[in-house]
Amino acid sequence: MRRTWDLILVGAGLANGLLAWHLRARRPELSVLLIDQAAAMGANHTWSFHESDLSPAQHQWLAPLVSHRWPGYEVRFPNLRRTFAGAYCSISGEHFARTLTAALGRQLMLNAVVKRLTPDTVQLASGETLHAGAVIDGRGLAPSEHLRLGYQAFLGQEVQLAQPHGLTLPTVMDATVAQHDGYRFVYVLPLAPDRLLIEDTYYRESPTLDPFLVRERINAYAQAHGWQVERILREEQGSLPIILAGRFEAFYADGQGVPRSGLRGGLFHPVTGYSLPEAVRLADLLASTTDLSADALQVLLYRHRLGLWRHQRYFRLLNRMLFLAAAPPQRWKVLERFHRLPPGLIQRFYAGAPSATDKLRLLLGKPPVPVLPALKAMLDYAPPAQEEP
Ligand SMILES: Cc1cc2nc3c(=O)[nH]c(=O)nc-3n(C[C@H](O)[C@H](O)[C@H](O)COP(=O)(O)OP(=O)(O)OC[C@H]3O[C@@H](n4cnc5c(N)ncnc54)[C@H](O)[C@@H]3O)c2cc1C
Repeated sequence: MRRTWDLILVGAGLANGLLAWHLRARRPELSVLLIDQAAAMGANHTWSFHESDLSPAQHQWLAPLVSHRWPGYEVRFPNLRRTFAGAYCSISGEHFARTLTAALGRQLMLNAVVKRLTPDTVQLASGETLHAGAVIDGRGLAPSEHLRLGYQAFLGQEVQLAQPHGLTLPTVMDATVAQHDGYRFVYVLPLAPDRLLIEDTYYRESPTLDPFLVRERINAYAQAHGWQVERILREEQGSLPIILAGRFEAFYADGQGVPRSGLRGGLFHPVTGYSLPEAVRLADLLASTTDLSADALQVLLYRHRLGLWRHQRYFRLLNRMLFLAAAPPQRWKVLERFHRLPPGLIQRFYAGAPSATDKLRLLLGKPPVPVLPALKAMLDYAPPAQEEP
């Protein structure tokens, strides 16, 4: 007899992994299959987030997946060095994979390339077709001609040092470095007393980076801080989408009726490309929804994505200011000014929930970039027909 799963999640990355994890606890009666083309989950990722991005209940269900937690974090700019209180947390890809693989057992299918999807079937490259009450497509970002993007491109190295580094807090932005190729900063996570993750990051127009050059810059950064690198343990690389503008309905139609999660569904912070908080919110939404049939999910996900798209209009406007109004070597000034603002505002911004007053505050004051080009950039790429609904 043909097996029909309640839900098939295609792509066992961050969004669908968290969804499977949460549904397993909250809706154990559901049969859920998580499929990925890779031989293992979570390869070469470190997913970080601020404690204030999530509610206490969300932290509780996510806790077993969290591998690092620091009591605060630092930022550095040419004219500003500031420490923020409030925990900063990371999930390592390795820990994510180990925990989920053990928990999901036969609900996880690896080494399975998916070729075609419909709202209730999944066709594998092997020719096999799987059936489900509903399918969710979480295969990561797909190119779309309906989004105008910039990128946060980076390469990170986890390094073993010869001596302890002495750092106690992450540096989430060190923009005191030379500004090449757009807004550049270095991101440093102290993973152990003698182990660091050092990422060299660029806000730029193109998603590609020269890995050889970036590795040299990471090495130079380590040397400048007196850190003697004994061994490079692993590398991670990404090019995260920064949304400047887009046409929601056409972007939604890219999915051809199959509900989408994660980056593929546009469920991320438009200014950072980070998707963990939105993935957690989606998992909460689906875990509390009784009807998970294909038809019901389509309506639910459409509304969810449209709501977020509208809510994020302001962030897209800020991105246009950053990318189109500030000349690349001047972009750090916008970020330096931002990090002088009250900590509560900064927390709400990263959590994707700025208040009306926060929004005003961000735009008021002496702008760090010329006013006229900024206004032009805001208007040029945002005619209502292009951005709506
Ligand atoms: C190196 C890196 C670090 C990042 N750090 C952070 C961070 O600190 N905090 C944060 O919030 N965000 C971070 N991001 C951004 C974003 O949150 C991640 O990219 C996140 O993994 C996106 O989740 P996702 O589920 O949409 O896609 P992914 O996690 O990329 O998962 C997609 C999965 O689909 C699978 N797949 C693709 N095609 C097929 C197919 N045809 N058949 C079967 N399987 C397929 C892939 O193998 C992959 O496992 C980072 C991104 C990268 C690349």
